[in-house]
Amino acid sequence: MRLAAAVFTGAAALVLLGAAAPGPEEVFARRTQAVTPHVWLIDKPAVTDPPFEGNVVVIEQDAGLVVVDAGGSPVSGRNVVDQIRGISPKPVRFLIYTHYHGDHNLGAGAFRAAWPGLTIISTEATRRNMTGAPMDYVKTYAKSYGDMAAYAAKQAKDESLPQGLRDGWARTAAAGPGMVAGYTGMSVYPADVTFSDRLSIPDATSPVEVMFLGRGNTDGDAVIWAPKEKVLASGDLVVAPVPYAAHTYPGEWIAVLQKLKGFDFAFLVPGHGAVQTDRAYVDKVIATLASVRDQVGPLAKADVPLDEVRKRIDLSAIRQDFAGDDPWKRFLMDAAFLNDLVSNAYKEARGEEVIQGKG
Ligand SMILES: [Zn+2]
Repeated sequence: MRLAAAVFTGAAALVLLGAAAPGPEEVFARRTQAVTPHVWLIDKPAVTDPPFEGNVVVIEQDAGLVVVDAGGSPVSGRNVVDQIRGISPKPVRFLIYTHYHGDHNLGAGAFRAAWPGLTIISTEATRRNMTGAPMDYVKTYAKSYGDMAAYAAKQAKDESLPQGLRDGWARTAAAGPGMVAGYTGMSVYPADVTFSDRLSIPDATSPVEVMFLGRGNTDGDAVIWAPKEKVLASGDLVVAPVPYAAHTYPGEWIAVLQKLKGFDFAFLVPGHGAVQTDRAYVDKVIATLASVRDQVGPLAKADVPLDEVRKRIDLSAIRQDFAGDDPWKRFLMDAAFLNDLVSNAYKEARGEEVIQGKG
């Protein structure tokens, strides 16, 4: 993690000196870590730097591999496929999407090319989102990231900002050209098979259960449980070290996280970030969601405008708890988590719907 961060910082310095920016292969690079004798995590090391890339989990069964999520761009998918081939010569038989957000499935084309017999699985809601408006943003993804990289380059030079924040923006700017190239020419690959509550992939060695436990991170999150390995893959219901809240249902999210705690897992693989070996981080997220709901709910019901609610509530302890004094992580706390969590808690308290795919 530290080494990867140093590499990214080095890349930022090169760009500022006018040298070539890292290409998409580097920007979307992956590594493999063994979790159990039959389960591996394929992740992008610098988890709090763009591009934000979902974790990939590989479960080895007797007849082939079951993979959770596919990487977030065509080049990311190719990198993931290369890593899988380094793990096992067995074919991938099943690819499961945890949810529709592109950082978890836009690499699926490489899977289709590598293993034509592959079956892609998701919840019905995720398939609906991937064949409808919520995923339209993919068409303008490269442009959005180009705009973000240009903004990042400006922020990196802003001497009024804390150095740690400027460094984060410099890393983002350095990754910009690689992200734009990587997010160009993308296709969406909706699931072949869907389920509403539960789907089993039996196996003598490593059986897999795929479940929908309720709305949380999106309206159709799949949770993957490998009982013999005691591995639970949560998708973005759990994201570490900074949670993600764009399209969440805060109250139902808490209920789903409580269900996750009920599994007898030894390893919880989040949608992004490090493998959890206990329930402490999930407890911290639950307490945070409850605190935000408790603060926002009464004000929302009293018709206090959302902008005014943001001024009246106090999120400083939460920010400190997750991000400490790191300026970049504090920025991400607001941009990826708290701003959306407050909006969604506000909607929830007022009985308004969270629209999938909308900012
Ligand atoms: Zn994600």
